[in-house]
Amino acid sequence: MIRSAVLAVTERSITRKMITDTSAGRAVARRFVAGDTLESAIDVARELTGRGMHVSLDHLGEHVSEIEEATTARDSYLACLDEISAHNLDANISIKLTQLGMGLDNVAAARHLDEIALAARVAGTTVTVDMEESDHTETTVDLYAAAQEKHGNLGIAVQSYLRRTADDLDRVIPLGGHIRLCKGAYAEPADVAFQSGGEVDGSFDRLGILLMESSGVDVAIASHDDARLEKVLAAAEHRDEPWEFQMLHGVRRDRQAELVAMGHQMRVYVPYGEAWYPYLTRRMAERPANLLFFMRAVVGR
Ligand SMILES: Cc1cc2nc3c(=O)[nH]c(=O)nc-3n(C[C@H](O)[C@H](O)[C@H](O)COP(=O)(O)OP(=O)(O)OC[C@H]3O[C@@H](n4cnc5c(N)ncnc54)[C@H](O)[C@@H]3O)c2cc1C
Repeated sequence: MIRSAVLAVTERSITRKMITDTSAGRAVARRFVAGDTLESAIDVARELTGRGMHVSLDHLGEHVSEIEEATTARDSYLACLDEISAHNLDANISIKLTQLGMGLDNVAAARHLDEIALAARVAGTTVTVDMEESDHTETTVDLYAAAQEKHGNLGIAVQSYLRRTADDLDRVIPLGGHIRLCKGAYAEPADVAFQSGGEVDGSFDRLGILLMESSGVDVAIASHDDARLEKVLAAAEHRDEPWEFQMLHGVRRDRQAELVAMGHQMRVYVPYGEAWYPYLTRRMAERPANLLFFMRAVVGR
């Protein structure tokens, strides 16, 4: 699979060094990442909201190895929520539970999620739990369900490439909140995930229609794939409850603006922070042309 091949290349330390240790590499990364600081993310968020978009801010990081790092990640989200509130921004936050300690200390991760959900309530906004590798799916859904039952201002991402996702939706739709449907960004084995693009797309369309027909839950369709968007738009004609499109910062900016001009709600996922390399590798794996683009910029051709 192309995704696995690109991820294998980007995981090599020489590729990582070429991209992270050169100013050309970092400059190209700026297309997808707002910057290293919260301030840079707020600037990008203000610019996007000024153009009629909504925003989800993601302080980059995942898989901490010490619980102190998870506490620092929690604090960075609390600071982010303060800024959202101070600037009265139309923004929420997206978090990764492995960044908050899941897999290392699940009790601490649940506590961090509680603290973030409470702060989001004070800031008048919501929290989306990103979905990570499949060995974390079960715990992610468990921690999400507990926090959503307690606070009511959360949402969760689900991945159409996972064979289990329809069952997960049976569990999370009754919890309300919001659900973001995406295809899935990691390299997963065939026993847990569909491997062909056709199967992933077919699953996306089925789950998208199911979500559009579900009530009591806000729906987010996170894709840059026009064929998927068309299917969802047809299903949305009969929906009278909230739903929105979501796209990544730096990907199909023209299409984002076009959908807003058509009157649709668009939320742009804006990542920021110093730990941008793993995020970037997934963007390269989705579109190998991005890897070539990076390599050309770095070697100056
Ligand atoms: C808001 C948002 C949140 C997400 N959250 C998660 C999550 O929690 N967990 C998770 O596993 N995945 C997440 N993803 C990533 C997602 O799973 C896919 O990997 C990613 O969106 C690419 O799939 P696609 O639906 O855009 O379709 P694709 O078939 O990959 O792409 C369709 C078209 O979009 C364009 N395109 C797509 N990606 C790129 C790119 N990187 N650079 C340039 N052009 C591109 C190309 O024109 C391509 O032909 C999220 C995506 C979005 C938009």
